[in-house]
Amino acid sequence: MRELRSLTAVAPGILFVEGPASNWTVFHGRSHVELVDCGYPADRPLVEESIRSTGLDASALRRIIVTHGHSDHLGAARDFSEGSGVEVLAAESELPNVRREITEQVTVADLLPVALRRGTIPWAVAAIRAGGLGDVGVPSAQAIVGEAIELSTGHRLEVVPTPGHTTGHACFFEPDAEVLITGDALVTGHALLADAGELQRLPTFFHHDAAGAEASARRLSLCDARWVLPGHGPALRL
Ligand SMILES: [Zn+2]
Repeated sequence: MRELRSLTAVAPGILFVEGPASNWTVFHGRSHVELVDCGYPADRPLVEESIRSTGLDASALRRIIVTHGHSDHLGAARDFSEGSGVEVLAAESELPNVRREITEQVTVADLLPVALRRGTIPWAVAAIRAGGLGDVGVPSAQAIVGEAIELSTGHRLEVVPTPGHTTGHACFFEPDAEVLITGDALVTGHALLADAGELQRLPTFFHHDAAGAEASARRLSLCDARWVLPGHGPALRL
């Protein structure tokens, strides 16, 4: 059974959710909710559970902003969007991947060279069961306009382009709460990484452009951040 690993209220109206295998952040105001990422497709009930824990429900969801178009971050965004008009946003250069006009995602063939590494096969089976190979594209996804996003919850997200993991991968910084959402540019854990809790990069084969991912991770400034909320692994308080 899929279960939430942890819920962390990092600042007023900002709830970090550690899902079964990937994470999302719930921004909540008096009557609106916006998400950054939303887990795997199979995590939809858990996304709704996490929203209910704020005292609101899924009908309050206005928008899903994704760090990138991988299926463990896009989750059920298309269902949310088609069912109730929830807007889905991504960096303009990530839109082809989010809409699945192209696919920048690790494939079964990419995994063959590392298939014998400890943990790879159980991780791959779990990812497939969670909908990781399903058609998760969101044709109606729209581009982020400008360098910051004003949320309906009163928060503001500065967009930090971090290409490499995918072409249009973006991190988001909330300056008032000093919260940096790093997606898959930097993580603190993953089934295929040994050191849980340490800030690190995902294994190279997960990146569309490994050199670009490394350069983006090096450029990413942590000095203004009080919290790092990664795409995988627990929240990190600096
Ligand atoms: Zn990813």
